Amino acid sequence: MTTDTIEAANRLGAVRDAMGRSARLTERTADDINLIAVSKTKAADAIRPLIEAGQRGFGENRVQETQEKWPALREEFPDLTLHLVGQLQSNKAAEAVALFDVIHSLDRPSLLPALAKAMDAADRRVPCFLQVNIGAEAQKGGCPIAEVPSLIRAARDADIPLLGLMCVPPAEVEPAPFFALMAKVAREEGLDRLSMGMSGDFETAIMLGATDIRVGTALFGERPAAARPTPASGRGMIRNSRAG
Ligand SMILES: *Cc1c(COP(=O)(O)O)cnc(C)c1O
Repeated sequence: MTTDTIEAANRLGAVRDAMGRSARLTERTADDINLIAVSKTKAADAIRPLIEAGQRGFGENRVQETQEKWPALREEFPDLTLHLVGQLQSNKAAEAVALFDVIHSLDRPSLLPALAKAMDAADRRVPCFLQVNIGAEAQKGGCPIAEVPSLIRAARDADIPLLGLMCVPPAEVEPAPFFALMAKVAREEGLDRLSMGMSGDFETAIMLGATDIRVGTALFGERPAAARPTPASGRGMIRNSRAG
């Protein structure tokens, strides 16, 4: 093992230990939670040690970056799962359907025709999480809570498989009430899975029912400042680095 692999294994082990502690409080284990390693801005050489340490699910937020980085890694490691965690433009739907195994950012009805067409053309149904703007933030993507039921209906009409709900709660405030609200909305809509929780708050998210967590910094270290794409990245470990 190289030092990179040992460090990756240590980070992965620490995250999985923390996942296990939180999962036990909801009578689950770490294995019941799907850990998605968010590798945006990280080069293949930084990703490979984590794969070698056993991680299989990865998340990216940009179609083009994924196209550049992942086909070669996929060839090397055929059993990987790729998740789109960033906003999707309709004109990238075909590429997204070809590249990703799960889409976490279905957030508006106008995406549905493009996604349905892309899935038909590829003869591949890519399951989606419906992204909810849980904090009703003007600057943030996601479907307003009030429009979740109609978006679910429209997605089903378009024959797009839905797994559950996804959110990025507001930065710099306690996320627990937002996670609890997400769980309530998902329950009301009869959806099983909740994609919520990042490096700074995944333990809280798991305690409140997260089934899929999206963790970048805690697995890969800090991202370069210019590449922080969402206001939500300000919470947790990243806020500490800003303060320092
Ligand atoms: C970057 C990102 C993450 C990971 O954030 P970390 O704080 O680095 O763990 C999770 N979800 C989304 C949507 C992201 O854009």
